[in-house]
Amino acid sequence: MKRIAVVGAGFAGAVLARELAESGEFRVDVYDQRSHVAGNCHTERDDKTGVMLHTYGPHIFNTSREDVWDYVRKWGTFEPFVNRVKAHTARGVFSLPINLLTINQFFGKSFNPREAKQFVANLGDASIHEPSNLEEQALKFLGQDLYQNFFRGYTLKQWGVDPTKLPASILQRLPIRFNYDDNYFNSRFQGIPTDGYTSIIKNILKHPAIDVWLERPFTSSDKIAYDWVFYSGPLDSWFNFHLGRLQYRSLVFERFDETGDYQGNAVVNYCDEAVPFTRISEHKHFAPWESHESTVCFREFSKLAEPDDIPYYPLRLADDKELLGKYVELADKERGVTFIGRLATYRYLDMHVVIAESLDLAKLLLENVGDSSAWPTFSVRPQ
Ligand code: UDP
Repeated sequence: MKRIAVVGAGFAGAVLARELAESGEFRVDVYDQRSHVAGNCHTERDDKTGVMLHTYGPHIFNTSREDVWDYVRKWGTFEPFVNRVKAHTARGVFSLPINLLTINQFFGKSFNPREAKQFVANLGDASIHEPSNLEEQALKFLGQDLYQNFFRGYTLKQWGVDPTKLPASILQRLPIRFNYDDNYFNSRFQGIPTDGYTSIIKNILKHPAIDVWLERPFTSSDKIAYDWVFYSGPLDSWFNFHLGRLQYRSLVFERFDETGDYQGNAVVNYCDEAVPFTRISEHKHFAPWESHESTVCFREFSKLAEPDDIPYYPLRLADDKELLGKYVELADKERGVTFIGRLATYRYLDMHVVIAESLDLAKLLLENVGDSSAWPTFSVRPQ
């Protein structure tokens, strides 16, 4: 049997480890430097209150791929959950994503969908043809008022740079709706695991051909013991930051406990630049099927990741992309390693995308079991 190391026990690594182990062709060692599996999706029950905490921030599972939805539900049950985010702005609290209720309440109107569409189209900046950055994307489709109140402040806090320096694609994640649908996601399937994400990932990793090694960092020099390594840590870290550091945003969570219901919703975004945090999450509302007297909330602050901080969001500014290109060239010269997941491919990825990519990659690997020259350097090539 071939010996495989998987570095990182988040979704990218766990799904791949399982698929390889099940083929009967491989023995898989999964390494993680943390004391738990599940990466940034990790959930744990709070000792004090019994509330299930999303330790590294809110995770709401959503996908339109039926195979991915079927896959995750093999490892535990999911409860129905629809993410309905609220926006706290300088002009009051509104519904997100921007929808007919938001437009009517924000502008004091009673539009129907057709009227609202026309109204917002007139607000948009028609002189922008191909939006080349986040600000232009917002101005083209929404105009100054909505951009200033909902996006500019939040984006400045979240990314720490002017929205003209960010790609338009960041905003394309958010739908704009001309009906009263306030579901934050467009996906066909959505839910939260009954027993948390860590339980799902533990179940994925429970296989006789898989060993999990926690609190065990793995570096390029450890690869000698293996036929192949699948690495889901930061790409620049694999190369000991030889060419410099790719930039990430990191998050800081400030916990506070209350009794009863603090904010009446799981997530409230604070869009005003004057408020220093980006959002408050009240974690018991991620599990409405449970009931708890106490409540645990987190104010979420965003900052540039320093070397000792946990990397969350790839920043992907022009300099980062140039450096990324150089690391990709280095990676292409490596033998016996495939880079997988959000950190190693330096992309802003949701859980369901990572799972889909690992399932797709496993299929390709297993179709080429005897021919590792067909095994790719990246699950999906970073750009
Ligand atoms: N965004 C914003 N205001 C909001 C919500 C989102 O300006 O109230 C922008 C912001 O730039 C953010 C992006 O839209 O980074 C994507 O938001 P999403 O909620 O998908 O971010 P995530 O939940 O992944 O942090």
